Amino acid sequence: MSALMDNYARFPVEFVRGEGARLWDADGAEYLDFLAGISVCNTGHCHPDVVAAIRAQAGELIHVSNLFMTAPMAALAERLSESSLGGKVLFGNSGAEANEAALKVVRKAKPGGDVVVVHGGFHGRTYGALSATPQESKQAPFAPLVPGFVPVAPDPEALDAAVTERTAAVLLEPIQGETGVHELPAELLRAARAACDRTGAALVFDEVQTGLGRTGTLWAYEWSGVVPDALTTAKALAGGLPMGALITGERLSEVLVPGDHGSTFAGGPVVAAAAHAALDVLEQPELLARVNALGERLREALRELPGVTRVRGRGLMVAADLAAQAPDVARRALLEQRLVVNATGPETLRFLPPLIVGETDVDEAVARVATVLGR
Ligand code: PLP
Repeated sequence: MSALMDNYARFPVEFVRGEGARLWDADGAEYLDFLAGISVCNTGHCHPDVVAAIRAQAGELIHVSNLFMTAPMAALAERLSESSLGGKVLFGNSGAEANEAALKVVRKAKPGGDVVVVHGGFHGRTYGALSATPQESKQAPFAPLVPGFVPVAPDPEALDAAVTERTAAVLLEPIQGETGVHELPAELLRAARAACDRTGAALVFDEVQTGLGRTGTLWAYEWSGVVPDALTTAKALAGGLPMGALITGERLSEVLVPGDHGSTFAGGPVVAAAAHAALDVLEQPELLARVNALGERLREALRELPGVTRVRGRGLMVAADLAAQAPDVARRALLEQRLVVNATGPETLRFLPPLIVGETDVDEAVARVATVLGR
């Protein structure tokens, strides 16, 4: 009996060590990790530069709170702003927290305004983020939720009709991750941009899963053809340590004033130092080019497998629909083959390998899936 609360159906394995795209369990068995802590370990497990940065900073200064400026945080904010929307950065400790910050900023910019969200989206489990996540099974047990969210179908006309003078923002994931790697159509993103421009609402991209190189560019909005007014990031930002951030364009940069928002640990020196080391790896153009090439290789190979009915994704954010029960395949059969992936639903396997994987890792992962599906 575990003393942990029962809010996760955990895989029947306990990992004790990680390096690159490999994990080892308590018995010393080696696994190929194509989940990367749900797109957190994009630099690979225990990347030596990330480990060194954490060690060095932990020996200097671990925490002083946000009542004081610290150099790693200030430099990281500048770096994130320059790499994306050019405005300001607000740090938090998770994806949900980054989205909470985004919701507060857009509401303050347009008081009382609604937030339009897209069916199938996922933005986190805290109350604001959960209220922005129009999924009955996740929301219903926790009602009443935060009011003012307007869910729409992923359809340009429906979205255009939902955005009015009363709308504070449209919040969406360019590729919906938790519900099975569904890329939103380019026309929908363009319709969202146009509707926001028409009404003065803010367009916010949740790039918690799609960002930081996962889809083959540092940020997904770069290939989407649409520039949002703000984006949220987390997961891989600090090389495996907890960190989230809201990055705004200029328009939303001056909305908050002292006292409006805060978070004790946010942007602390150790996570910020880790984030610099992680970004040094993830911003490399060669790495991003490899993410695209390896993603293509993975998708093509998966399409050839018997029992795979559909494959989709971008970069190394990939899903395969199966004729078989995907949760059982991931949690039992593939785990026995020592391949770590997860299922996002009854028929969908998701592949989110560390971005430092090689061709042989991709081929090996596909071979293990083939072994299971070929039975
Ligand atoms: N937004 C997206 C798109 C996510 O995929 C997730 C987590 O999977 C979140 C928000 C929530 O992030 P966190 O679990 O760090 O709160």
